[in-house]
Amino acid sequence: MYVLSITAFYKFIAIQPKDLPIIQEKLMKFGKERDMRGLVLLAEEGINGTVSGKSECICEWKELLEKYFGEITFKDSEANTVIFPRWFVKIREEIVNLKKPDVRPTGKYHHLSPERWDRMMEEDDVLVIDLRNDYETEIGTFEGAMDLKVKEFHEFPRLMKQANLPKDKRILLYCTGGIRCEKASLEMEKQGYEHVYQLDGGILAYLKTFPYRKFKGECFVFDHRVAVDQELKPSERFHVCPHCGDPGDREIVCAKCEKNQFICAKCFDHTERRSCSKNCRHHLGILVK
Ligand SMILES: [Zn+2]
Ligand SMILES: [Zn+2]
Repeated sequence: MYVLSITAFYKFIAIQPKDLPIIQEKLMKFGKERDMRGLVLLAEEGINGTVSGKSECICEWKELLEKYFGEITFKDSEANTVIFPRWFVKIREEIVNLKKPDVRPTGKYHHLSPERWDRMMEEDDVLVIDLRNDYETEIGTFEGAMDLKVKEFHEFPRLMKQANLPKDKRILLYCTGGIRCEKASLEMEKQGYEHVYQLDGGILAYLKTFPYRKFKGECFVFDHRVAVDQELKPSERFHVCPHCGDPGDREIVCAKCEKNQFICAKCFDHTERRSCSKNCRHHLGILVK
């Protein structure tokens, strides 16, 4: 039995600028009163977030959002420890940062259910593209997917142009929860790609339907869990690397203080980073000199 319910969601829907601070205040108050934690982004283009709390609070939260914004797809998971330090509702220029607020997704558009996605992946003449950041792709990915090595999402239009893929192929896009695909598919059509499809609800929706199937490894998430496994449970394998913040699964004994720690594969290659913290690393650095 898990004690914390978690839900991730987004919806592109036009919100009047004057309404943003009003909605912000209402959501802020709602979460505070219920001791919820998480991060919610509001913009003129819609809402995006991941929140956690007691299961009855999460139910009320979903009802509240659907009252404001109509039907929303929620992606649920659970945990036993606090996964966000605080509760934030913020107003931003965009709810996913492509740095192109004029690219506005509207409604369902070439969205594939996990079942259709699974079938289409097996067909000839499809190109599967991972839209997530490079450190996310490293710990889990769909078999055969192309990794654009995105460092930040706003690089996507440029990287896509550079990749110069065949325009007649069917392109299958995916990301963690689906939101990046919404904007990326519009951007790709602008660039002349004619057959662009997206995994509805992202990896989180796929794993709910098809654990241990075509997605291999774990799915990175932007909170204290670091990643979720094939059953959407908090990762037992990955920990935040104390040196760089990437997911780490290399266990070491700190060369300075002898504390056990997990660090990432990249930092594992640097002697002074085989330490438990930035502080111990600093002291080791001095010793090595
Ligand atoms: Zn690292
Ligand atoms: Zn140490």
